[in-house]
Amino acid sequence: MNYFLNEQQEEIRSLARRIALEKVRPVAAKHDREGTFPWDMVEEFAKAGFFSIYIPEEYGGTGGGVLDLVIVTEELSRICGGIALAVSATALGTFPILLSGNDDQKARYLPDLITGKKLAAFGLTEPDAGSDAGNIRTRAVLKGDRYIINGLKHFITNGSVAKIYTVIASTDPGKGSRGASAFIVEEGFPGFRYGKIEDKLGIRASTTSELIFEDCEVPVENRIGKEGQGFIVAMRTLERSRPGVAAQALGIAQGAYDLAVEYVNKRIQFGKTIASNQAIQFMLADMATQIEAARGLVYAVSRMIDNGIEKVAKESSMCKIVASDVAMKVTTDAVQLFGGYGYMHDYPIEKFMRDAKITQIYEGTNQILRSVIGRSIIKEAAKG
Ligand SMILES: Cc1cc2nc3c(=O)[nH]c(=O)nc-3n(C[C@H](O)[C@H](O)[C@H](O)COP(=O)(O)OP(=O)(O)OC[C@H]3O[C@@H](n4cnc5c(N)ncnc54)[C@H](O)[C@@H]3O)c2cc1C
Repeated sequence: MNYFLNEQQEEIRSLARRIALEKVRPVAAKHDREGTFPWDMVEEFAKAGFFSIYIPEEYGGTGGGVLDLVIVTEELSRICGGIALAVSATALGTFPILLSGNDDQKARYLPDLITGKKLAAFGLTEPDAGSDAGNIRTRAVLKGDRYIINGLKHFITNGSVAKIYTVIASTDPGKGSRGASAFIVEEGFPGFRYGKIEDKLGIRASTTSELIFEDCEVPVENRIGKEGQGFIVAMRTLERSRPGVAAQALGIAQGAYDLAVEYVNKRIQFGKTIASNQAIQFMLADMATQIEAARGLVYAVSRMIDNGIEKVAKESSMCKIVASDVAMKVTTDAVQLFGGYGYMHDYPIEKFMRDAKITQIYEGTNQILRSVIGRSIIKEAAKG
């Protein structure tokens, strides 16, 4: 379908597709099997300028927007949803600085993030505060010119490979989510270290780890926004990053579909290709239709954001739900089309099903996002 991308976006798509095919494809299975972080690919992505693609020119970026980032994420995820996260999780960790940071913070941190010299990560989730993010226990106490942070974040994408962390901690526990504040923490700050690195079902080329704060010292000038605005910083970030998760899901679905189409046209049973059965063609038709429907929504929401629409919690939730549910359905059907071979690690298709699952879970589970949409509908109805 024609989504009327501009010239720059078409070029980004061709570049990302070429890098995905030529560079990512040969190493994807190895990183997945061994659970290793793709530093080799980070270098490629940096050279291609993928870390600067959504950053305004005034901060040294290429001036694209969320849709440009979505296109890169989609194309990389078409080959490996785990490796693509090196770019999109860095964007997630960078958004708080970009959207809510002051000029000094942007000047100090964006240049190294834009060039890919340093990766970023976003730390909100804790063992007892997942969906219930307002319940975070990590505490930041102001002492002189520094905050002293104590607590534990877990399940942090890019944890232990990133150098810059945007972290949400409570400065006023009595106020719940209104007592949270956002901070920039650098690797090497006293009292900050990494904990357990997770062994995962999918996106195994992406590193997920604990962040441990033990009397961690953070200069006061590293607080993003005012005290008490941490939750607003986090929600602004997630509203803009959810189309990225949706793009990852979209790419995973498209990649699985591409392999399935190729396979059913080769596999012979009963003396003919399995593709010649109408039952198989109907499955392909549903897969293709669902992918296109998801793509339409993901691109539309990205364009809303790029056109300056501020409040997109409902729409960004919608596109993440649709694309991730499509990814799960399409990848499961793709495994089905491969039959028993699809179940084997020797074939590339099962990885897509494993990688798809996370897109229904992180950056707000799909149940929580349905609640976000529901609340928004009720609020709009009450306004009349
Ligand atoms: C691989 C991976 C990478 C991640 N990366 C990051 C990261 O970079 N940064 C970060 O901060 N976090 C990250 N996360 C955390 C992720 O966002 C959380 O796992 C997610 O928000 C869910 O929280 P939870 O795991 O504690 O599940 P829970 O909140 O315990 O939820 C368990 C189940 O209950 C459901 N549920 C909970 N409450 C409700 C409710 N009120 N109504 C209906 N259903 C409900 C959920 O939908 C879910 O199905 C990552 C997680 C994973 C697995």
